[in-house]
Amino acid sequence: MHFHILTLFPEMVLTGLATSIIGRAQKDGFLTVDADNIRDYTTEKHGHVDDYPYGGGAGMLMQADPILRAYRAVCERTGTTPRVIYTSPAGRLFDQAAAKAFAKEEELVILCGHYEGVDERALELLHAESWSIGDYVLTGGELPAMVMVDAISRMVPGVLSNSESGETESFEGSLLEYPQYTRPEVYEGLRVPPVLLSGDHGKVDRWRRDQSLLRTMERRPDLFAKVEFTKADRKFLRTLEADPDLSE
Ligand code: SAM
Repeated sequence: MHFHILTLFPEMVLTGLATSIIGRAQKDGFLTVDADNIRDYTTEKHGHVDDYPYGGGAGMLMQADPILRAYRAVCERTGTTPRVIYTSPAGRLFDQAAAKAFAKEEELVILCGHYEGVDERALELLHAESWSIGDYVLTGGELPAMVMVDAISRMVPGVLSNSESGETESFEGSLLEYPQYTRPEVYEGLRVPPVLLSGDHGKVDRWRRDQSLLRTMERRPDLFAKVEFTKADRKFLRTLEADPDLSE
């Protein structure tokens, strides 16, 4: 999969994505990440890429033209017209399902805003899809772009090794991940739950599923409402109703 990031700060995204698993995936040929500096595409003689918003208001807006030129350079280079994500707090909330869906693309452009955002006509002309990484406002789209590249890349076959597999992680089947433990068995007086040392895989799986249900119920009622319960889940939830202390 090939990511093309349009940004005013290419070094920020390229440096951040060159390390750890995403860096390794690029070296191993599963991904490429390039970043175009939007400023390189301005025709304004002082190199400006922003201007005042029509109608007044605080701050500056990124102009449409350098963004369109940067996108068209990507199209020319790749011989394709990739889908465009615009990182925006006013976008749809980016989640695991979105990451999985975007991982099916061969080429993907991510446009990073700055200042007060971008001229709406750029988004219209690019058919850009606006996606937010959360209900807070950042100074620029570079961190959201890195978050999205990371989450999408993990869903690209080959990027994660078997031991890093994402199949049992949070959000799979609308559940948060269960608590995990590693050595030693006792740390500062806290014991690993005995079931995990029992060697009984059936019991371990059930305990993990119960913990995921509990965690999701307590921390993310919005996700819990979407869970498809099995018969065994319902049995566990009935025991909680009978003895609420179990959920503490
Ligand atoms: N005026 C914009 C608004 O209220 O929606 C906020 C602009 S913000 C200061 C500058 C840029 O940061 C945005 O254009 C966007 O690219 C990026 N950004 C900020 N917060 C974001 C978020 N939660 N998710 C995705 N992108 C974000």
